[in-house]
Amino acid sequence: MNPMEELLASYHPEANCLNDSVIAVTGAGDGIGKAIAKAYASFGATVILLGRTVEKLESVYDEIEAAGNKQAAIFVIDFESATEQDYQELSQAIDETFGRLDGLLHNAALLGERTSIANYSCSIWQQLMTVNVNAPFILTKKCLPLLQKSQQASVIFTGSSVGLKGRAYWGAYAASKAAIENLMTTLADELAETSKICVNSINPGGTRTQMRANAFPAEDPLKVKSPESLIPLYVYLMDKSNTSGNNITGQQFNA
Ligand code: NDP
Repeated sequence: MNPMEELLASYHPEANCLNDSVIAVTGAGDGIGKAIAKAYASFGATVILLGRTVEKLESVYDEIEAAGNKQAAIFVIDFESATEQDYQELSQAIDETFGRLDGLLHNAALLGERTSIANYSCSIWQQLMTVNVNAPFILTKKCLPLLQKSQQASVIFTGSSVGLKGRAYWGAYAASKAAIENLMTTLADELAETSKICVNSINPGGTRTQMRANAFPAEDPLKVKSPESLIPLYVYLMDKSNTSGNNITGQQFNA
């Protein structure tokens, strides 16, 4: 067992361990974000579903309701075109509705092109940096006052293996994920002594989603793990009653 598997082997979340938590999930309409948003709701959280495609978010909202979990909230935001004012309004709306934020999962991202740096499109590079790096930065900045109002808050960024060491033809995606790891450790370090906000990142590893299928079109999807298999780790880092986990900050987790 690797250290993370050992950690999770002894973690058995209580049925309602997220009962008092308000958690925002970006890219909650599809893939990993959808599975984790539903899981947070099933553990009792009030989940704020953030994303750009209203139909997808509404479908997740309906699934949460049909499962008998707490009513979710939807905020539609396109991270490619959102202005600083849009983020400010989002944070204000969360403040007016919930008064605080206990969890923020930065999950939304774009894959971009799979091509060499020499051939990489400048506009796609900028698009990826906007969605994958600038959006998590601005959203975190605008939500910090709400996270400070929580008794114990958790911010999770989403990394990738290619963010830890770049690989040919992963272009802006790899560079954006490297930036995210650095943003995570910078923020964790700034907040460690001055707040009750933990900041970590998860590299989900190969997971059966549309993004994975786009990156590896020849792969048999059934040979890739499901988004649901990631639930224990994502809950672990949001669970305030988890005394072994709720002080961890500045760490990079590989699922
Ligand atoms: P998906 O492509 O399945 O889902 C990505 C989500 O991000 C979608 O809900 C999408 O919205 C949303 N999104 C994309 N662009 C924007 C935007 N401009 N504004 C708002 N929301 C946006 O990806 P995965 O679930 O596979 O990936 C989730 C995270 O995990 C990502 O950060 C990814 O980099 C990371 N990851 C995934 C791996 C894998 O194997 N799947 C491996 C390593 C890391 P919409 O549905 O409307 O398009």
